[in-house]
Amino acid sequence: MRYGETGFNLEIDLSRGNIERVETDPKLTELHLGGLGTNAKILWDRVAPEADPFSPDIPLMFGTGLLCGTPAPGANRTIVTAYSPQTLLMGYSMMGGFWAPELKHAGYDKVIFRGKSPKLVYIWIHNDKVEIRDASHLKGKGAVETQELIRQELKEPNAQVAAIGLAGENRVYTASIEQGRSSSSRLGMGAVMGDKGIKAIAVRGTKDINLARPAEFIELCNDALKYIKFRNENPVPNVMTILQGLGSPQEMFHVDEKWHTENFSWGNARTRRKDFWTKEVELRWKEVQESVRTRLISCYNCPMKCGAIISIPGLSAYMMKCFTKLTYTMAAFVDDLDFGFKIAQRATEYGVDGFSTPQIMAFAFELKEAGILTDADFAGCPSDNEGKFYWLLDRIVRREGIGDILADGIHWAAQKIGKGAEAYAHNNIKKHEQLPLKLGMLNPVYFLMYATGEKINITQIEGQFPQAPFATMEEREEFISDWIQCPDDKFKQIVLDWEFRGERSNPYYPTVDMSVDIVDWQEKMHYIDDALGVCAGLSSFPLKPPYHMHNYPKFISAATGIDMDEDGLTQVYNRNRNLLRAINVRRGLRRADEVPPEDHWKKRFPELEEKLLDAYYKFKGWDNQGIPTKETLQKLDLAYVAEDLEQRGIIKNGQD
Ligand code: SF4
Repeated sequence: MRYGETGFNLEIDLSRGNIERVETDPKLTELHLGGLGTNAKILWDRVAPEADPFSPDIPLMFGTGLLCGTPAPGANRTIVTAYSPQTLLMGYSMMGGFWAPELKHAGYDKVIFRGKSPKLVYIWIHNDKVEIRDASHLKGKGAVETQELIRQELKEPNAQVAAIGLAGENRVYTASIEQGRSSSSRLGMGAVMGDKGIKAIAVRGTKDINLARPAEFIELCNDALKYIKFRNENPVPNVMTILQGLGSPQEMFHVDEKWHTENFSWGNARTRRKDFWTKEVELRWKEVQESVRTRLISCYNCPMKCGAIISIPGLSAYMMKCFTKLTYTMAAFVDDLDFGFKIAQRATEYGVDGFSTPQIMAFAFELKEAGILTDADFAGCPSDNEGKFYWLLDRIVRREGIGDILADGIHWAAQKIGKGAEAYAHNNIKKHEQLPLKLGMLNPVYFLMYATGEKINITQIEGQFPQAPFATMEEREEFISDWIQCPDDKFKQIVLDWEFRGERSNPYYPTVDMSVDIVDWQEKMHYIDDALGVCAGLSSFPLKPPYHMHNYPKFISAATGIDMDEDGLTQVYNRNRNLLRAINVRRGLRRADEVPPEDHWKKRFPELEEKLLDAYYKFKGWDNQGIPTKETLQKLDLAYVAEDLEQRGIIKNGQD
């Protein structure tokens, strides 16, 4: 019997209409856990590294995490994986909500699609019964609307449906996959789904998931729930509002946007409005948010309620969480939050990433102002800020006129437009739009996370360690006094010594070696979450979360029966981290690509930045190009990866 996981994947060949239930190898679970780890293994094994992201050979995987569907709070993530059309590297994007637990209860750990359907279809998975169904009547329908139409058609109100909108159908590179209470938004997984001809995947599952040691597991879950309750009642003091609690940034609950509106940048990631947040704005924005937010909602088996149902008169309801309420508003330089909620409704139905898409539009209008794009490109475009954004959003998702070029994201659009447009693509990492932040002094920890993170989105790399020093020694001592999650006292000492100014401040403190250590810890937690399917909002992202390095091995052992301790889990993390790196290295990723957004910090330190990269690569056991060495790979049971890289001449003979 398999524990924690179902032990079966669903393999669907869309070109041939073939559906198979395939038993998986339990050894792979021991080596990689599940979710991201086993997705990476499949991508490595099955795909020629030179394949185009839209090649029929590329598998599109919906992988549940190892703990999904168990009683572990917040274990509900689906890890959607393919090659990203935008970065050309491995794309993996998390989806919360209810879909992954439902799939596990239907009896599958992953759905793996290959080939392409000749016509638009949707997939209906109902326990052992799996069908590929015609979706021609759903063509052009909104991503949220489609979910409801499918539930009605199937007469299954409890089916969990993940769907794309028009953007995915048209292979817009920022297309998302929307699903009830969450979405897989980053890196264009919706475009790959659309390219394969899949409009939606509906799932209903009623089977049990077996646990190896249920009583022990439930006790661990109860402890985690107790700690969540404690943290909800005892917010972390002396940090900004959204960092005080658990969950993904509590944007739907909190109305205080001083920090974001004054520190994130407006337009095409350029302008900071340091005096934006007045009492008057606060009152106006609070009123808007409270009038459209009908209720706060949670993902499967989580008490946190990070999302909200947004209902605006005259528009269909949708789910919002995180920063999307701000991204369109700030990119368009609109002072009214009402606009953000309204345009996000249209964007959610279209199915586009709420971080990247507003940036693309701000970029386009900057090019127009600079005379690089012309009036002819914007013929028919209204002149007001709100109207302009609606107009361009419609063009992008339909790939009409200039929208067709912009639909490939800022990096590729700039290449196509030319005439100096490349200089305006200043907020990208690895060809991908980044969060529009503009700060003063380089932060060495963030430099490393931005530059080297495989996930690319910074909010999904950072966490656990404070983002900034505490002002006083009392505050520092208070912070470390109950920091049970801290894996080593050396991190506590850094918190105690870190200052805003002077010798022990950014960019030279934390020191190079300390920065590498901090980044490794933060990455470790994200990689474990993504293999287990636990929401980062309860583990790797917030300060003092319920899941951490000390209790995770116990959860894994009690759920699966795998003998796991902290060293073993670190080994799995390193294995998955290096496998992902190897996939991207095989796709051409090198040191020259590992740069943060050009204008992210005003003060840059090229020499220090090189030292940081050198030290990080050395710590990881990589060469100075960021390529894992043969010895590193062999130590992690990845000798087959080393052999492949050696055969391709990527690892040179005698490199170690
Ligand atoms: S913490 Fe928030 S985003 Fe995470 S599972 Fe819970 S409700 Fe969902």
